[in-house]
Amino acid sequence: MLKFKGIAAAPGISVGKALRIDKEDLIVPKTAIRQEDVPFQIQLFEEALIQTRREIIELQKRIATEMGQDQAQIFDAHLLVLEDRMLIEEVISRLKNELLNVAYIFHEVLKKYIDVFSKIEDEYLKERMADVNDVGKRVLRSLLGKKRTLLDDVKEKVIVVAHDLSPSDTASMHKKNVAGFVTDIGGKTSHTAIMAKSLEIPAVVGIDDITARVKSGDLLIIDGSMGMVILNPDEETLSEYQQEEIKLRGIAERFLTVKDLPAVTTDGKEIELNANIELPDEIPSIKLHGAKGVGLYRTEFFYMNRRDLPTEEEHYQEYKYVAEQMGDGQVVIRTLDLGGDKFLSQFEIPREMQHFLGWRAIRFCLARPEIFKVQLRAILRASVHGKLKLMYPMISGIEELRQANKILEESKEELRKEGIPFDNNIGVGVMIEIPSAAITADILAKEADFFSIGTNDLIQYSLAVDRTNEKVAYLYEPAHPAVLRMVKNIIDSAHSAGIWVGMCGEMASESALALILLGLGLDEFSMPPAALPELKYIIRSVSLVQAQEIARKAMTFLTGKEVEEFCQLKLREILR
Ligand code: PEP
Ligand code: MG
Repeated sequence: MLKFKGIAAAPGISVGKALRIDKEDLIVPKTAIRQEDVPFQIQLFEEALIQTRREIIELQKRIATEMGQDQAQIFDAHLLVLEDRMLIEEVISRLKNELLNVAYIFHEVLKKYIDVFSKIEDEYLKERMADVNDVGKRVLRSLLGKKRTLLDDVKEKVIVVAHDLSPSDTASMHKKNVAGFVTDIGGKTSHTAIMAKSLEIPAVVGIDDITARVKSGDLLIIDGSMGMVILNPDEETLSEYQQEEIKLRGIAERFLTVKDLPAVTTDGKEIELNANIELPDEIPSIKLHGAKGVGLYRTEFFYMNRRDLPTEEEHYQEYKYVAEQMGDGQVVIRTLDLGGDKFLSQFEIPREMQHFLGWRAIRFCLARPEIFKVQLRAILRASVHGKLKLMYPMISGIEELRQANKILEESKEELRKEGIPFDNNIGVGVMIEIPSAAITADILAKEADFFSIGTNDLIQYSLAVDRTNEKVAYLYEPAHPAVLRMVKNIIDSAHSAGIWVGMCGEMASESALALILLGLGLDEFSMPPAALPELKYIIRSVSLVQAQEIARKAMTFLTGKEVEEFCQLKLREILR
């Protein structure tokens, strides 16, 4: 038995067999397609073949100059694989018959070829097999638009062990086949961790060399609340954790008893409690955990795990569905926030050195208004079906807000001319997640309908701590006095201008710190659905006056640790 300590990324305890995913493994999604999608899938396949051909020719040229013509000729065999009529025709005919995505079909055909070749005792054919395998992986990568993806193939419940997982890898996991995951790298507020929380999959990240210690099939316990992983536990430890899991479930059930009651303090202050979602699939979970509405809809996940851009109609149907499902509850749609740790394969954006400081989110949308407008038009169109609001990510100052609003106005004007109805008074909010916006919140508040504080980014920018880097995770402190002062300034500025202010960063679900936020006057809290009942329970156990006193005291401490300890103590007193 061995124990490893990492970063607690998503709560819960799981026991299961490990499935180690190596860096080079490709996990291929299996999705049904419609008859009318067949030509598009064939086109994707053809493009992937062309793209791979281009890559191999490039490689061949480089090898020829660096190592000589002879070495470069090896790749002629690779190019031949790309022209293999039998392989291509088999893919197309199975695609038409089975109506499954082309990446999956291609992967299946490839496996069959390799299987057949590997059984033949012939040196020449063995080499051909290696060629087919190599080229096949290239084509698959091109089809998937990235290195690795999805885990739909997984049949029994496993604990995934990987060096790293991208947010889109995580988005493709499902509770029914993934009991948890562990990674070598990553931080608490990386989008991979956030996605795990949304899917309610326990996760521990940042265990340095876990992939070197664990092999597929090993028994693992993961404790996503404490950030612990236990390899091949003995009977006693196993039963201890099973008991712990029962205890945790009991606590969760206690919190759940308040889910349908209002989020109101003991002295009558009502708080708006909303959920963060990445995908409309999370709506049942929102309802189960008693959220009033959606405080952050991270729409960039809609662009992930696909090769094309969603059309206006697709966006519209998606937002209309969410708006209708939430009925009277408000739904805050955050416009496309790509970049940072969220890469989208459709956009050929070069990887940047400082990707969190680079060409992302609103910066990208303002530079590509034709892409931005597709989403804005769809949000406006869907606004007649419910209580929709929209908000812009990564606003650094008033000019960006004005530019974004100008494009919004143009979109409205277009719809007016086309006679398409929309809510002309749709609320337009600003995410406050860059220190410059936090400091000039008074300026922004005059031209915004509401604020939502994005602490995940605000903390990484103000403390200069990459939110995805486990090496500096110890510096990532929501309770840091600098963060608290900024949050206070944002709330005060919003209230002076008469607008409401919420928080949709992960800090909103840190139960002890919620006491400070409540005391500072935060109007809305938005978080992963499963975290909501506990917060509601806390809000219903404390008075606003008490929270104000806690906030006042907390603002006087010199370090985040003191703030944290003080709030934990207060929380224990309140919940006792
Ligand atoms: C944030 O930055 O706090 C936030 C909510 O947005 P995201 O986590 O998607 O960057
Ligand atoms: Mg953010």
